[in-house]
Amino acid sequence: MSEEKAELEQLGPRSRTLELVELGHPVLRQKARELSREEILSPEIQELIEQMKNTMRAAPGVGLAAPQVGRSLQLAVIEDVYQSQLTPEQIEERQRYGVPLHVIINPRLFIEEESKKCAFYEGCLTMPTWRGVVPRAESVRVECLDASAEPVVIHAKGWYARILQHEIDHLNGKLYIDRVLLETLTTNTCYEEYWEKMSVNEALERLKP
Ligand code: ZN
Repeated sequence: MSEEKAELEQLGPRSRTLELVELGHPVLRQKARELSREEILSPEIQELIEQMKNTMRAAPGVGLAAPQVGRSLQLAVIEDVYQSQLTPEQIEERQRYGVPLHVIINPRLFIEEESKKCAFYEGCLTMPTWRGVVPRAESVRVECLDASAEPVVIHAKGWYARILQHEIDHLNGKLYIDRVLLETLTTNTCYEEYWEKMSVNEALERLKP
């Protein structure tokens, strides 16, 4: 046992990370079931939330839904602290501002009436070597429960709205590849070589047949 592992064991099960299921696992295509208030407050679900948080941070990712770790439950963790790695232009284009760690449970998604569609490259921890352009609503409202089983209403725009739509899709058995503009699908390596430096509109223009 490594020193690090011994330390983790000492910290207990809450410090563990979970194994991600791979594309093709049937759990990814099931509609996840809702959690009751009692279940949310149970030690088992509170431990799962901690472990999902660790798993998301270790990946690293900005969101992780329970089906991605093999649990068919209406639960996802979200945290976006990576916008500091982007240029001011990229932050502006993506409308990507920090999102603190939080949990969404039994979410209901509403597209805001005035919402436009916007398209950006998106990836997923379930198929980590790929990404592609996905059109999504720019502005959404989510009604859900938090980690204390309290009702919350989230109003989100831009990148945060995109993360919410991506994670809630997971809870309904949907993946971004169901919505991706297929011609934009790329490996991460090719993305970095050919597409990362240009705007999404430029990329779409180049990919026109
Ligand atoms: Zn995903």
